[in-house]
Amino acid sequence: MDKKTLSELKKKLEQERTLLEKDLLKFADKDKKMPDDYDTRFPDLGGRSSAPDEDAKETEMYENLLAVEYALEIRLKEVNEALGKIKEDDYGHCEICKENIQLDRLKANAAAKTCINCNSKNSL
Ligand SMILES: [Zn+2]
Repeated sequence: MDKKTLSELKKKLEQERTLLEKDLLKFADKDKKMPDDYDTRFPDLGGRSSAPDEDAKETEMYENLLAVEYALEIRLKEVNEALGKIKEDDYGHCEICKENIQLDRLKANAAAKTCINCNSKNSL
């Protein structure tokens, strides 16, 4: 892979990381003990009554946020792993067959870990 393409992909990954972290911080706090781990804040709708209705709504919101947090964290982890590989000069290789990952695939998902062939085998 030429340097220009690599730096473009790196830039893409860094931008995505910034966005993911920003999204996470909207409703979660960064866990100080674990890198890339976030803890969703329990939503407080502001009522002082703590009526059962409102508690149920808050719990539902919290559960939805946990699912979002989980998805964002997984993606953030993938992005960070890809950035780590760029640093170690080991970027763009399929984790299964060790071949180069197709450039089109990396352009569509710069954090891809496997080539198209292995990915389609894996998802069967
Ligand atoms: Zn492969």
